[in-house]
Order: sequence, then C-alpha cells, then structure tokens
Amino acid sequence: MAHILIVEDEAAIADTLIFALQGEGFTTTWLTLGQAALAHQRQTPADLVILDIGLPDISGFETCKQLRRFSEVPVMFLSARDGEIDRVVGLEIGADDYVVKPFSPREVAARVRAILKRVGPVVAPAVFQIDLERMQITYRGQPLSLTRHEFRLLQSLLEQPERVFSREQLLDAVGVPADAGYERNIDTHIKSLRSKLRSVAAQAEPIQTHRGLGYSYSPGNS
Ligand code: CA
Repeated sequence: MAHILIVEDEAAIADTLIFALQGEGFTTTWLTLGQAALAHQRQTPADLVILDIGLPDISGFETCKQLRRFSEVPVMFLSARDGEIDRVVGLEIGADDYVVKPFSPREVAARVRAILKRVGPVVAPAVFQIDLERMQITYRGQPLSLTRHEFRLLQSLLEQPERVFSREQLLDAVGVPADAGYERNIDTHIKSLRSKLRSVAAQAEPIQTHRGLGYSYSPGNS
C-alpha cells in the first residue's frame, strides 16, 4: 500500500489527514518542516507528498521546488487561501493537485487515491546516476564528492550489479597495476566510499563485502 508523507505544522489538521488516510489503508509519516521533509524524502521516499504552503521554515512552494530537483513524487498542496495565483504557481512548480482549507479529509483521501491511480505504479528513479562527461555520480539525488579512484571504483561496481569483483579486478578498473601490492588500498577506498554513501543514506549498504572474494554492488540494498 502506498505511503504518504504529510508536511503540515498544524497538528489538528495533520491528525484529521492521518486518520482519513489510514482509514483508506495508506501508511503515513507526519513532519512539520519543509527541510525535514526534503531530508526524509531522500532517505525513505514516500509515494505521495501532501504539502502545506505555510510552513515554519521554508514555504511549501520552496519545498516543492527543491523536491523537484531529485524527485518526481506526486505532490498535493494544502493552502489556507483560495487564490487563483496560488493555484497557478502551485501547478507550475510541479504540484499534482491542490486543496484549500478547510477541506474534507475524506475528499483529500479520495484525491490521493485518484492521483496515485493516475501516475500508476511508482517507478523509482535510478538510485545512482553516472555522468561520465563530468565524472560525477549522483546518489539519491545528491552529487557525491569523489576522488578519481573512488569514482572509477564505484562506476565499475555500478555498471555490473551483483557481480563480485576481486581486489585485483577493482585495481585494474581504477588503473593501478595489480602486481604492485596495492590490493589493500582498495579496502581503504571502499571504506571512504561507504562513509560518503552513508552521509546520504545512513541505513543503506549498496556496497557488499564478500569475505575472501571482494566487493559487489547490490541494488537491493541501495
Ligand atoms: Ca501552516
């Protein structure tokens, strides 16, 4: 069942939404700040975001704009004002729907169902994106700051998911002669890579260790 992220600073409104959505079988997460919602969506993407426009930190509009840099998740705005300008602006920056307070929570739940039906089964965007020209790898929408060796290493792993690479093969990919006794350097690079990946997603473990064999990229753990 779809998971809905509710971003709303008024507890009473959030409560009615949670109640209505859970009554329809959706699971929910409730947050009160735009920045927190962006961080949450990076870590554990919801299937749809309900976004209040008047939030205490950054506005719902600004949240949506930043969200659109890394996510195509459907967004429904909640607004305190029924202004045509809001509606146009909301839809221009990539919202899928728009409701004005006070609203019927049941109606919101029905609209959520309609949007999810329209967008179809949620196709997750690639967790990793490789830009060869700029030697840049993006992880969950965040560009990684990698050394040249880390870039080559990660690129090799990503290009053949689930393949177990030996340290020699990875040295070769990085462009270091395998006979120079640098095998253990691979472990150092992997360690550094993992810490950079964890700073984006603490719970994920995309690089797997195979004791005595080497390393692989596991999309299921990304
Ligand atoms: Ca508000």
